[in-house]
Amino acid sequence: MPIDPTQPYDDNNVFARILRGELPSKKVYEDDFAFAFHDINPLAPVHILVIPKGSYVSWDDFSERASDEEIAGFIRAVGRIAREEGLVAQGYRILANIGMRGGQEVPHLHAHIFGASLSGRCSR
Ligand code: ADP
Repeated sequence: MPIDPTQPYDDNNVFARILRGELPSKKVYEDDFAFAFHDINPLAPVHILVIPKGSYVSWDDFSERASDEEIAGFIRAVGRIAREEGLVAQGYRILANIGMRGGQEVPHLHAHIFGASLSGRCSR
């Protein structure tokens, strides 16, 4: 079910638990501002999720409350991961679903990075 993006941050959401190491993930990258791991249900040959270390429900929440340092760190991490995964030459997609109409299911901001072509599920 898509989430209500105006809800307070839920410390027990699945990505918060991954960040705390309480749940396993296939880690791709980590720095002071971002953590990245493979999506459990990939929609493309490369499907990575990048999340900020801070507690933000959505892109909207992040852009309003995060510091400039956190925002720059997160955006730089997304670009760096794409480069390190070798996606730049062929191109790739970045997607953030936001709230109910955006189809966001996990209430911790995440950017999807898709390399190569997408399966149909993503076109909704
Ligand atoms: P949607 O599921 O509609 O794409 P989101 O944009 O909120 O909505 O994406 C959540 C993503 O998180 C999904 O692609 C899902 O496969 C992924 N996911 C959920 N739980 C895990 C997990 N434990 N480890 C890795 N990826 C996960």
